[in-house]
Amino acid sequence: MPDTPILSSRLVAKLRRTAVALVHWFDADYAPGGAEKIRAAPDKVDWVRCIPFIILHTGCLGVIWTGTSRFAIGFAVAFYFVRMFAVTGIYHRYFSHKTYNTSRVGQFLLALWGGTAVQRGALWWAYHHRHHHQHSDDEQDAHSPHVHGFWWSHIGWITSRRNFPTDYSKVRDLAKFPELVLLNRFDTVVPILTGFAVWGLGWLLEIYAPQLGVTKWQLLWWGFFVSTTALFHGTSCINSMAHLMGRRRFQTGDDSRNSLILALITLGEGWHNNHHRYMSSTRNGFYWWEIDPTYYGLKLLSWTGLVWGLKPVPQTILDEGQRAEHAASIAAAQRAAHAHSDFSYATLRKVVPTAAALAVATATAAQAATPRRADENAIHTDVTELAHELAAKQTPPSAPPSA
Ligand SMILES: [Zn+2]
Ligand SMILES: [Zn+2]
Repeated sequence: MPDTPILSSRLVAKLRRTAVALVHWFDADYAPGGAEKIRAAPDKVDWVRCIPFIILHTGCLGVIWTGTSRFAIGFAVAFYFVRMFAVTGIYHRYFSHKTYNTSRVGQFLLALWGGTAVQRGALWWAYHHRHHHQHSDDEQDAHSPHVHGFWWSHIGWITSRRNFPTDYSKVRDLAKFPELVLLNRFDTVVPILTGFAVWGLGWLLEIYAPQLGVTKWQLLWWGFFVSTTALFHGTSCINSMAHLMGRRRFQTGDDSRNSLILALITLGEGWHNNHHRYMSSTRNGFYWWEIDPTYYGLKLLSWTGLVWGLKPVPQTILDEGQRAEHAASIAAAQRAAHAHSDFSYATLRKVVPTAAALAVATATAAQAATPRRADENAIHTDVTELAHELAAKQTPPSAPPSA
C-alpha cells in the first residue's frame, strides 16, 4: 500500500494545523501583524470581542427555566464577593500596584484566584490599570467617561480590538515569571474551569444534599452567569462611575471621586480619589470611617503568612486629606452663612447645615496647621516605577516617599 504514508502525513499535517488553529484561538497573545499594529488601530467596537459578553449576559436568562433556591442565590452573592476580592485585593492592589508582598507560589495562587473573576489575565489587567493611572481622564485613557462617554468607559473599551493585546513593556516586573505569562496568554482556561467547577458542585449537591433544593443547572446560571455578570458591572463602575459620582477630597489631576456606595459594591475601591492621590498604599479607605473590606481581607490573609508587607498610607497624605476636609467644611460654612444671612428666614432647616459645617470645621481644626510638604510625586512615580523595571530597582515602589 504505497499511498498509506502519504495519507498519514497529510492527516498529521491537517491535525497539526487544526491544533495550531485551536491554540491560536485560545492564545490571547496571538496577534497576526503584531500587537503594536493592533494597539495603534482606532477605537471601535469589535463584535467578535462582544461574543463573550453576549454569552455572559444571555446566560443569566437561564434562571427563567431552572427557577431559584435560597442556596443558589446565596452562592451567587458569596461568589460575587469572593471574586470581587480577587479583583480588588489581587488584580488591583497586588498585580497593578504591588502594595504588599507574597512568595512566587503565593503570587501564582493569587493569579489563579484572580482568573476566576473572568476579567482576563492578571498582566493584561495590570497593564491597562497602570496605563489608566498614567493617563487618567486624558485622551490616552482607555476608559475615561469624560473623554469617551459613560458606556464606552463602562464596557465599550473592552470590546475594542486595540485594547485586547497585553503591553508587556508596562508589566515587566510581572512578565519575568513565565507561569504568570502562561496564565495571561490562555486567559479563558481558568474561567472555563470555574464554570465547570460551579456546575460540578451543583451536581454533587443535587445528589448528596437534596434538602438544599439546588440543581446543577440552577447553580451554573445563578452561581456563575448571574454572579459573574454582576461582578463585571460592579467592577466596571470604578472605571465609569468612580470618575463621575462622589466627592473629591484631593485635587488630583483627574476627576476621580470617593463614594461610599461604590465602596460597598466593590469592597473598598470606591475611595477612588484617595487611591488616585496615593496608590502605593494597601488601603483605599484612608481613615477608619472609610470602609475598606478588601484591606481587612488582606490583613486577615497576612496573618496566614500568604501575604506580608502591607503598605500604610503616609502620615503626610493623611494630614493633607484632613486639611482638605477642613478647608472644604470652612467653605461650606461660609456658603451656608452667606446663603442664610437674612435672619428673618433663619429656620432650623437653614441653621442646621451651617452649624454642622462649623462643627466639622472645628473637629478638623487640629489639621489646619501650616501644610507640610506633601508627597507630590507619589502618584506618578509609583506607576512609572512598576512600568519600568530598571527604575523600580533603583527606587523600590515599596519605599515610602521621602517627604
Ligand atoms: Zn481611576
Ligand atoms: Zn489603581
